Amino acid sequence: MKTRRFLSFLLITATLFSALSCSNNEKQAPKTAKNVILLIGDGMGPAQVYSLILTSSEKTAFERFPYSGFSITKSASNEITDSAAGGSAIANGTKSNNGCVGMTADSIPMPSMLDIFAEQGKKTGVVVTCAVTHATPADFLAHNITRKNTEEIALEISKKEKLDVLFGGGKKYFTERKDGLDLIGKMWENGWNIYDSLPQIENNNARTMVLTCRKHPVKAPERGDFLPQATAKAIEMLDNENGFFLLVEGSQIDFACHDNDSATLVEEMRDFNKTLNVVLDFAEKDQNTLVIVTADHETGGLTFIDPDGKYTRTDFKWSTGSHSAIFVPVFSYGPGAERFSGIMDNTDIIKKIMDITK
Ligand code: MG
Ligand code: ZN
Repeated sequence: MKTRRFLSFLLITATLFSALSCSNNEKQAPKTAKNVILLIGDGMGPAQVYSLILTSSEKTAFERFPYSGFSITKSASNEITDSAAGGSAIANGTKSNNGCVGMTADSIPMPSMLDIFAEQGKKTGVVVTCAVTHATPADFLAHNITRKNTEEIALEISKKEKLDVLFGGGKKYFTERKDGLDLIGKMWENGWNIYDSLPQIENNNARTMVLTCRKHPVKAPERGDFLPQATAKAIEMLDNENGFFLLVEGSQIDFACHDNDSATLVEEMRDFNKTLNVVLDFAEKDQNTLVIVTADHETGGLTFIDPDGKYTRTDFKWSTGSHSAIFVPVFSYGPGAERFSGIMDNTDIIKKIMDITK
């Protein structure tokens, strides 16, 4: 009797153990990711993320990420970076000088992760809420000694051989140029489809640029759902068996913070949050997409204070109209996401992404 009981104990233990190890195997995410979606909140430090949590009644998209860390943002030239050098470090993994786009501190042009993924045969796209020639998208699409050369940056973008989707603003840099060139006409000739709004897109397989305005799109909430909708459309157009890379920027979080405009910051963060939910919903279904959310730097030196010493109110308190040196958050989801925990340098982000997509 005792032996039989012992045997059935062994049998139950063995069954439990194999059931557990089986479910562990099933749950184990693949070690490599096929798709990468990188989202940059321009100027989005920890307090900008907290401004959303503070004013939201629902759980935010940021709270859906299983891993988070911090990125140190200083540039080669300055303790406090601008968007050009901050984005460049993320895009190509080298520290550059403030103002410099897609180049090392010695002005050597560097391929961005978008270029590397395109070379590998992945589809690539960029979705922003600023002119597509602005510093952050330019870091991924162009190489220039200064971000101010917007017409040169537009020319380089128009000649890119490998780029599938580009949604944002900045039409004037393509059509109202000092050199008189009509870059949009040239791009049509080279097989691009170009529109001023997302619903005009007819062919999901053509290289497609949507420029909604002359310079920067209007701020949130007047902009409507352009960013979440453009992101959803880009994912739909880019998703393919070889994988894709998509850069999404909440460009105007920075603009609101330069203005120390708390209400607009919250609107821009809501817009970015909606976009994150679109991306996470896709990644959860796909199970083969690495999602990284970070920032190029913090803007405004924002914090939340107790104005009367009684802890009855939480007021927004801005300490500058410029950028600050504080580190920025990194949130990650998907295969290899755990590698983005802890404190890292902004130049480490591309290295980790490349390791996971090998
Ligand atoms: Mg930017
Ligand atoms: Zn800025």
